[in-house]
Amino acid sequence: MRGTQVLIRLAELARLHLPMSGEIAEALQEVIASGIFVLGPRVEEFEQAFATYCGASFGIGVNSGTSALYLALLAAGVGPGDEVITSAFTFVATAAAIAHTGARPVFSDICGDSFTIDPADVAQRITPRTRAIVPVHLYGHPADMDAVAATARQHNIAVIEDAAQAHGAEYKGRRTGVLGDAACFSFYPSKNLGACGEAGMIVTSRADWAERIRWLRDWGEGGETAGCGNYRMGAFQGAVLAIKLRSLERWNAARQDVAHRYCRSITGRALQAPRTAEWAKHVFHIFAVRARSRDLVQAAFAARGIETRAHYPVPLHLMDRFAWLGYGAGDFPAAERAARETLSIPVHPALTGSEIEEVCEALRSVDRQS
Ligand SMILES: *Cc1c(COP(=O)(O)O)cnc(C)c1O
Repeated sequence: MRGTQVLIRLAELARLHLPMSGEIAEALQEVIASGIFVLGPRVEEFEQAFATYCGASFGIGVNSGTSALYLALLAAGVGPGDEVITSAFTFVATAAAIAHTGARPVFSDICGDSFTIDPADVAQRITPRTRAIVPVHLYGHPADMDAVAATARQHNIAVIEDAAQAHGAEYKGRRTGVLGDAACFSFYPSKNLGACGEAGMIVTSRADWAERIRWLRDWGEGGETAGCGNYRMGAFQGAVLAIKLRSLERWNAARQDVAHRYCRSITGRALQAPRTAEWAKHVFHIFAVRARSRDLVQAAFAARGIETRAHYPVPLHLMDRFAWLGYGAGDFPAAERAARETLSIPVHPALTGSEIEEVCEALRSVDRQS
């Protein structure tokens, strides 16, 4: 027993970046020499490269994933008096961005297997005020987009993907980024593709949306629109992200390899491995097991020096900040169960072989003790 010292972490960002730090430093030197620190050619190159990677026509680089969501919602015409449907089980930013437009977030329950929005439940929550649906590709698993798109078409409303955890994930062979009217990515450092700082992007193939979002991102010059402001991406981040994009496929493959090894180590009854739908390419931003006694499992991992965390312990409809929406316990049973049972295990691409083996051993050991 090595006590409670953390040896295997949920992220190892220094370890991930050190092998490419020379290349990154060179690119940053070039930015310095150019004197262009905000937007400019490095950002434009990365916008084009990432949109092309997704299979979309346009990328608009912004300063965070939260800003990407906010601006995409504004492009959809969302504002006060509107309702926007999203998942009750996601990172807080998804619903906070909706509320920030003045619209009302309307929650929907999730499918227990994929942790993504339940399209049948979404269909039930449409009202004359519904302006958009924001499915979240949570943990790197795409939402069931055909069913969501069918509902959206029927009611003539927009679909905005929250793809902040799903760079390179696929739904029926198509990458996230092309599965709705627009998709929002975060490049927060620990995401599957991360900047060395804050950044985000809206990806779309709709020229009208791209033009509007570019305009909103930079103070809506010549107009006066509530919500426009400064959401520009810095040139350093564009330069770093262009370099790191070249490794995204390799890193996603590493995450999948690790995830498959973990899944093979879970054969007992104490843990339930995450499932991948047959139409999905899962990129495992997070590897979340379900455990009925989560605290005990977390303690067992901590005793082996393995860091774990619940993503996310409180579903959005039970957060104090969304109390004004009037939801209560029992409203979204699948989301509440996920919040109670899920535990994230280290799955990042910088894990060493012996670290992976150590985690597999911990999974086998916990699973045996049931
Ligand atoms: C990270 C994340 C965001 C927000 O991105 P930031 O870049 O941190 O603003 C939004 N939605 C989801 C699901 C996320 O994981």
